[in-house]
Amino acid sequence: MKIEKGIVTRFHSNTLELIDLNTREKITAFLRGKFKLQKITPIVGDYVEYSIENGTAKIENILPRKNLLYRPKIANVDQTVLVTCLKSPKVDYLIIDKFLVQVEKNNLDCVIVLNKVDLLEKDEIDEFLKIYSPLYPVVLTSAKKKIGIEEIKPYLKNKISTFAGMSGVGKSSLLNAINPGLKLRVGEISEKLQRGKHTTTYTELLKFDFGGFVADTPGFAAFEVYDFEPDKLQNFFVEFHEHSMYCAFNDCVHINEPHCGVKDAVENGEISEIRYKNYLKIYNEVSEYQKKTRRKR
Ligand code: GDP
Ligand code: ZN
Repeated sequence: MKIEKGIVTRFHSNTLELIDLNTREKITAFLRGKFKLQKITPIVGDYVEYSIENGTAKIENILPRKNLLYRPKIANVDQTVLVTCLKSPKVDYLIIDKFLVQVEKNNLDCVIVLNKVDLLEKDEIDEFLKIYSPLYPVVLTSAKKKIGIEEIKPYLKNKISTFAGMSGVGKSSLLNAINPGLKLRVGEISEKLQRGKHTTTYTELLKFDFGGFVADTPGFAAFEVYDFEPDKLQNFFVEFHEHSMYCAFNDCVHINEPHCGVKDAVENGEISEIRYKNYLKIYNEVSEYQKKTRRKR
């Protein structure tokens, strides 16, 4: 029996859609009974082994998952492409930093795409770059004017990505510009999630012509999931790490403590003041959230 490898791109009751990793062909496959007995269900993003028996593809094995994301539910996600704009709709840095907290909490790689640069002045772009480009790769794009599209492709090639970001920032438009064959309706990526609240929608992986996959459901739309203690928040601000070793207290959360390496770094400009202020705001929100849920318990 010949065993082939594929990736699950769609899953609906008993039928799975796979892309063969060698031929890149689309294949419809079925689950063997043993999986049902063991209550094992594959999910989108799973790498599987399958065989062809009398012309029918059957799943033989689900390979170990590297990770499992819950919003949307996908296995083996390599990275998040955090898409934002600054104008139309207005997006402030607090929203961006909240997304970045979710990205870091899930231990994902991240590329930031600043879209709609056609609406921005040079000094607005420069301020954005000053804050974020020391922390993550940043690509400047305009889906409308087809700027920066080629620069995103190397990040996406041969990886499984989710696009995250507020509704209306241009996720669907960008994906169409990157791979016109995807033919997404404008707003389609964001809509999927809103519909998902009321009806059952299934996440699907879309295939790029140049290799790689993207989820058709945006990452972390319900992004205020503060299921961690406030003192853990600092772990999700990547630039704090190298400075927190100079804090006098081991359990310093960089707010009211004296001799704090992080506050010193904010003072001398090594850490962005905007990022630090957002840290304080999110810290308070996490504390409030934890207090409330503790009361309920
Ligand atoms: P999504 O909700 O993140 O998927 O955003 P869409 O792709 O649906 O885009 C929302 C709106 O922004 C649409 O009206 C697009 O035409 C517009 N848009 C997308 N990219 C750009 C851009 O680079 N510049 C400008 N000016 N508008 C854009
Ligand atoms: Zn400190």
